Amino acid sequence: MVDVPSQSAEDYLERILELVQETGQARVVDIANSLNVRQASVTNMVKKLCDLGYVDHEKYKRGLVLTKKGREVALKIQRRHETLSSFFSILELDEETQKRDIEGIEHHLSQGTVKALDDLVLFFESYPEVLKKFLNSRS
Ligand code: MN
Repeated sequence: MVDVPSQSAEDYLERILELVQETGQARVVDIANSLNVRQASVTNMVKKLCDLGYVDHEKYKRGLVLTKKGREVALKIQRRHETLSSFFSILELDEETQKRDIEGIEHHLSQGTVKALDDLVLFFESYPEVLKKFLNSRS
């Protein structure tokens, strides 16, 4: 891992940010539960994320905190997830499918592709009648 976090590091950063946003803290036990992995795995990854400067241990307080760099990366990951959510939502795909497919592809898309999908969503939002035509054509 150089500057680009690995796929699983991205999952951790994303989840740490979500936990902090939702509950104000990201404890190892909560990360393990929500990612469905063992606490030992979390501890290993957290060590790596610390070494890479993404995460700080805040001893005896609120668990883990993201560094400025970690937060920036995590916000990008979160934005990318939201772009994909919006894209799948305008296609009227169900929540469960969306969730599974986004988890499957989100780490494998280039910035240019994500930007194109974002632009497509904005386009359809500006021309809802075009989107409607498209959706009708499928049914
Ligand atoms: Mn995600």
